[in-house]
Amino acid sequence: MNTMERRDFLKLSAMAAATAAAQAKAGVERTALHKDAHGIRWDKAPCRFCGTGCHVKVGVKGGRVVAIAGAEDADVNKGLLCVKGYHVGGILYGKDRLTTPMLRKEGKLEPISWDEAITVIAERIYKNPQKFAFYGSGQWTIPEGYAAQKFIKGGLSNNHIDPNARLCMASAVTGFISTYGVDEPAGTYDDLDNASVVIFWGNNPAEMHPVLFSRIVDRRSRGEKVTIIDIGTRRTRSTEFADHYLEFRPQTDLAIANCIANYLIENDKYDKAFVEKYCNFRIDVDDKTRDLLGKASTFEEYKAKMSTYTLEYTSQLSGVSVEKLTMLCETFADSKQLITSLWCMGVNQHYRGTAMNRLLHGIHLLSGQFGKPGAAPTSLTGQPSACGTAREVGTLAHALPGGRIVAKPEHRADCEKAWNMAPGTINEKPGYHTVLMFEKFCTPTAEGGDIDTILVQVTNPGQTLPNLYKLFDAKKDLADKFLIVSEVYPTATTEIADLVLPAALWVEKSGVYGNSERRTQQWFKQVEPPGGAREDVWMTIAIARKLYDMGYPGMKDKDGKFIFSYKDEQGNEVPIWDYAHFNDINVDKALYEEYRPLTHAKHKNVAPYDVLVNAHGLRWPVVQTKDGNWRETRFRFTEADDPFVKKGTGLQFYHSTTNDDKAQIWFCPYEAAPEEPNKEYPFWLCTGRVLEHWHTGSMTMRVDQLRKAMPKAYVELNPKDAADKGINNGDLVKLTTARGEIVLPAWINGRAQPPRGSVFVPFFDEKLLINRLTLDVTCPVSKEPDYKKCATKVEKYNPTEKQPLP
Ligand code: SF4
Repeated sequence: MNTMERRDFLKLSAMAAATAAAQAKAGVERTALHKDAHGIRWDKAPCRFCGTGCHVKVGVKGGRVVAIAGAEDADVNKGLLCVKGYHVGGILYGKDRLTTPMLRKEGKLEPISWDEAITVIAERIYKNPQKFAFYGSGQWTIPEGYAAQKFIKGGLSNNHIDPNARLCMASAVTGFISTYGVDEPAGTYDDLDNASVVIFWGNNPAEMHPVLFSRIVDRRSRGEKVTIIDIGTRRTRSTEFADHYLEFRPQTDLAIANCIANYLIENDKYDKAFVEKYCNFRIDVDDKTRDLLGKASTFEEYKAKMSTYTLEYTSQLSGVSVEKLTMLCETFADSKQLITSLWCMGVNQHYRGTAMNRLLHGIHLLSGQFGKPGAAPTSLTGQPSACGTAREVGTLAHALPGGRIVAKPEHRADCEKAWNMAPGTINEKPGYHTVLMFEKFCTPTAEGGDIDTILVQVTNPGQTLPNLYKLFDAKKDLADKFLIVSEVYPTATTEIADLVLPAALWVEKSGVYGNSERRTQQWFKQVEPPGGAREDVWMTIAIARKLYDMGYPGMKDKDGKFIFSYKDEQGNEVPIWDYAHFNDINVDKALYEEYRPLTHAKHKNVAPYDVLVNAHGLRWPVVQTKDGNWRETRFRFTEADDPFVKKGTGLQFYHSTTNDDKAQIWFCPYEAAPEEPNKEYPFWLCTGRVLEHWHTGSMTMRVDQLRKAMPKAYVELNPKDAADKGINNGDLVKLTTARGEIVLPAWINGRAQPPRGSVFVPFFDEKLLINRLTLDVTCPVSKEPDYKKCATKVEKYNPTEKQPLP
């Protein structure tokens, strides 16, 4: 970092610390809460939807959310929301809210009491605790995920818990860990304000993270120059704002990243001083083994492996011209630039997702594009607490809170101590990851299907799992398998559930989320849930208590106390498992404060609950300064901002996998996709999201404005392919893969345009389940499926029928 950059950096850091300190000083008076002249009570909450984590002002009158506004004083969104955010209040008021527990009796869901529902669940678990699995979510609040984690990994000594985040960011986790030894981005959204170049890698933030996208393009309207490079497999709304568009053949992004590395080395344009001081090299163990840590490599070995990826070879493989590849390589070679790379599902939902994540970190490290404001490799998340609850709380099947893993005895011991449980309580074997969990559930017990009960909270696997016929629909024929679903509305998952539990949603409960930039955000319950809907965290505690009452030993700690025992201010235990007393204390605060010390070991120190009450979130690590205030961290591993970096080191990767404070630069080869277009299925099929709907649409399809703006799924076709097949806008098209078929209307030259030989279908429409066609092959390291490419046949379907388009 040169003198000017460092001076600016320190100034910016001081400003950020002062803001956080001022917010933290306010104590727990709840500064966000006030009433306006119209009798509307305003409070704060993070948006319920994407991982951007925008801050919303919530207006309540007469017990209903009646108004929504962006929080002007929030760093993330500075008063702005996207179209979903402005309508977030509407998700509470769909006409078909679930309000009572329902048990399937003779094929039909019949209302039952909460007592009966909790008893049914506890009895199933009691009978076969190791055949029970918990399937959760990156929409779980931190206290919800923490309670679920403690319940199953501690209470049941069973690790079969996984969040849906396995389907969206598991490859980012393995990428971070294998590069830096610890998960989550070093940079923050502040990089977007400082970068001279922003690169979208298989990413469409104009639709998926619209407020972050605005944060970038708004700089242009202020006269700042920011170059946007879009690297993708189809033209999108983001492409319209790009200075350069590089369209690559699916899967060859691996070769493009390698080409940049090779170019920098071959032309002696990499940052030698940075690499020598802060980096090691790493490769896979052999040509077949793909694991988390690989083996050490010399620079010469790394260089020799990279040398295949010349501009010409990469151009031939990827379809990107030599000129455009040269432009990209030269951008990384130019030390005057400040480059931020953004990626999300295009890189993560990838058969070689871990490899692609590693390579992106690698080119940033090689070029020294790291550790300066504006220079950062940054993965984004799709869910509001994929970082907070899946990654930090560690609800993945192999993980434990605070960056720990079940495989390490000292990590298990830390948690057993924190939970006052006997040594040896936590099972050392990782549980089933998502795809395996549902495969075991959908396989007959006699054939090795050793999961017989799944409890699903805050997610919709009946629409989001890949290869749905195999991983979800097959359950219908297995009478001994039992699916429990906590939900807000009827969904593709509740459709075949055996027991449905009505859940409270968003500000109908208190919560804590962790967004994509390590920001922990808290909110309080603001309205009552409808009918008998209840908080997910209460459900978990009530099931645990029922097991305790039945004498299940794991639900007692070493002293014989219930594992979720919390006291009021007078020191009396509150029976929070009895819903009449659930709100007698702040259960969220009790769970969060129990969890908080567990975040310290890996320097992920989250802020105290009371400090978060009056902040628009704080970015960990958060440490207390000498004057008693709490200070957040914008740039990890850099001496200028990260409190855990040793003075005089500049940069310190203090969780390095090689124990020498260095990051790992990986070589990972290009490998063909597991399924490529062929004679029978000649097109690529890519799936994804749209601006108006959030994921499976179970919430946004209940908001009139959003549903009317985008009422149903469609297939995007290239105009030339459409012309060849005589397909026009609105014509029905049949897509067929080796796993299933679907019929939906064509949209040509609409919102986006795929290249020839490629089609795109969004997955939000529960009536048109595109995941019946997608592939369940996963990244060998992260176990995340590839939703972005498989082979499909495209046919015009009923020539006389047409459907309206958005
Ligand atoms: S960008 Fe994401 S977090 Fe922000 S308002 Fe839109 S959906 Fe909500």
